[in-house]
Amino acid sequence: MIDIQNYNDKNIFAKILRNEIPSKKVFENNDVYAFKDINPQAPIHVVIIPKKKFCSLNDFSSSASDETIIAMMRAIRKIAEILDLKDGYRIISNVGLFGGQEVPHFHIHLLGGRPLGRIISS
Ligand code: AMP
Repeated sequence: MIDIQNYNDKNIFAKILRNEIPSKKVFENNDVYAFKDINPQAPIHVVIIPKKKFCSLNDFSSSASDETIIAMMRAIRKIAEILDLKDGYRIISNVGLFGGQEVPHFHIHLLGGRPLGRIISS
């Protein structure tokens, strides 16, 4: 089970941020990095992460500065524009065990490129 109470520098997204493992960049600014998901669940599947260390949405929403929170929200909009997602898209953030979170660095999934149907299929 992943620990979302204590940030672990060995998580895969921390390694991506340190350029220790490769990623396919979609967008980057001072606060945010976004890259293609390695196991896409839709024609477009981007992972958006803050550059600072937060374990989950819980940690991010309680500890991040207003500026960082705004930067994440604005990045979503910017990426949707870059990817020309005129017909819409979905964002998801999995939190903890029941949320199905696998990587303990806060991230937002952005999915699109086809009609995505209902939020939960099973
Ligand atoms: P979550 O289950 O919300 O923690 O999502 C973790 C996501 O990270 C999954 O969709 C994985 O496919 C994705 N992922 C894991 N390793 C990599 C990687 N090296 N590059 C890109 N995406 C990855």
